[in-house]
Amino acid sequence: MIFQKDIETMPRKDIEALQLVRLKRLVKYCYDNVPLYHQRLTDAKVFDGERIKKLSDIQYIPFTTKDDFRDNYPFGLNAVPMKDIVRIHASSGTTGKPTVGVYTKDDLKIWADCVARVAAAGGVTADDIIQISFGYGLFTGALGLHYGLENIGATVIPASSGNTEKQLMMMRDYGVTGLVATPSYALYLSEAIKEGKYPLSDYKLKLGILGSEPCTEAMRSQIENNLGIYVSDNYGMTELGGPGVSGDCTARDGMHFAEDHFLPEIINTDTGERLDEGEVGELVVTTLTKRGMPVLRYRTKDITKLSYQPCSCGRTHCRMSKTMGRTDDMLIIKGVNVFPTQIENILIEIEDIAPHYMLVVTRENFRDALEIKVELTNASLLENYQSLNNLRAYIEHKMQSILGLRTKVTLVAPKTLERFQGKAKRIVDLRNQ
Ligand code: ADP
Ligand code: ZN
Repeated sequence: MIFQKDIETMPRKDIEALQLVRLKRLVKYCYDNVPLYHQRLTDAKVFDGERIKKLSDIQYIPFTTKDDFRDNYPFGLNAVPMKDIVRIHASSGTTGKPTVGVYTKDDLKIWADCVARVAAAGGVTADDIIQISFGYGLFTGALGLHYGLENIGATVIPASSGNTEKQLMMMRDYGVTGLVATPSYALYLSEAIKEGKYPLSDYKLKLGILGSEPCTEAMRSQIENNLGIYVSDNYGMTELGGPGVSGDCTARDGMHFAEDHFLPEIINTDTGERLDEGEVGELVVTTLTKRGMPVLRYRTKDITKLSYQPCSCGRTHCRMSKTMGRTDDMLIIKGVNVFPTQIENILIEIEDIAPHYMLVVTRENFRDALEIKVELTNASLLENYQSLNNLRAYIEHKMQSILGLRTKVTLVAPKTLERFQGKAKRIVDLRNQ
C-alpha cells in the first residue's frame, strides 16, 4: 500500500519543481525570522533567496551544525513566537546540552504524515496492533511513531521501554502484530521470548518497525529469524523533527526520503563539497516545510549514499542506503578507519558467537588498540581451550583480512555483555581517560 500515492509516486521533475519552490520560500522564511540564518544568508550573499535559481544553488547556503543547536539552546533557532509552538522535544544530550526541537500545529501534522508513510511502506495497515517500545518522553521516537501510526488507523499501545516481562505479556494478551523499537531492543526481546515459558507461537507478531540506530542487514536477518517477523528500517533525528525523514519500502533497497518535506544532499565531510549520486559521504538535510524550527543544510554526521534510480515499489522519492554510522562513531585505530557496523557485519556471519559485542579502545605505548569482546552462544566451548583458541584466532584473522586491522578478540560467556533497551552503546573508548 502506498499511503499518499499522488505525492510518493510523483514524477521526478515535479518533485524537483516542488522542492525548488519550497526551498526559495524556506530561505526567505529563515532570513526573515531567524537571526542566525539572517546573518549567515547575508554573509553568503544569498539574502532572502536571490541566489537560489535552481536546486543546486543550495550549495551557496552555509551549513547548520549540532553546535548551532547547542549555542542557540533552547529556542534561539525558533522562527515563530512561543505562542505558536504546541510541542517541545529534545534529544537525550549525553554529550552536552540537549538538542531541542519545537513544533507548530502544522509541523505536528506533517510529522505524523511522514511517519505514516514510513509505517505504511513497512507494511503497517489499519488492521495492525502496534506496541511502541521506545521510551516515551522528550525523545522524538515514541510520540513520533505514535501519531504516525494512529494516522493510518493502526491500534497503538504506548508501552514505552523497560520491564521486558510486561512487554511480552502485553504482546501476547493484546494480540500485538507489530513492534516499534530499536533493533537492539528487538534482539533483546527475542532472547527473552526464547528463554521464557511462552513459545513464539503464542505471539501474533509479524512486523518490526525498527529504527533510531544503525542496523546492518545481517543483524536485521537475525532479528527476523528470531522473531519470525518482517523488519523495516526508518531514519530520523531530533534536529530534523524526529522519525519519518526516510524509511524502507518492501524492496528494502534504501530508505525513501519524504522528498516533499526534506531535501537531502551528500557532502565530503572534510571539504564540504557536494558529492554525486552513489558517492558515500555525510548526509546533509534541509527541512522544506518546518515552521517552528526550520533547518538549512543540517550536517547529520551520518555516513550514507543516495540513489535516484526508480524503485520497484513505484515510489519516486530518492533513497538513502543504511548508514554506516556517524562520523563520531568512526574509530581510527592505528590509522585504519573503521565503523562498528563493519565489525558487526563480520561477527554476525561467524558461527558459535552471538550478535552481542563490545568494542574497547585503549592506548598502549602511544598506540591504539582495539579489543572486541563477543559472546559465545554455547558456554561449553569455554571448557575446550583448543576450540576456543581456534575460534578466537579465526575472528582475529577475519578482521585482519577484511578490515586490515589487528584486533584482540575476547570470547566471553553467553549472557554476560550488556543488553540495551534503547540505542546500543557498544563502544568503550578508554583513550582519553
Ligand atoms: P531519534 O530520536 O530519531 O533517535 P536522535 O536525535 O536521538 O533521534 O538521534 C538521531 C541519530 O540516530 C541519527 O543522526 C542517526 O545517527 C541515528 N539514527 C536514527 N535512525 C537511524 C536508522 N534508521 N539507522 C541508522 N541510524 C539511525
Ligand atoms: Zn521503494
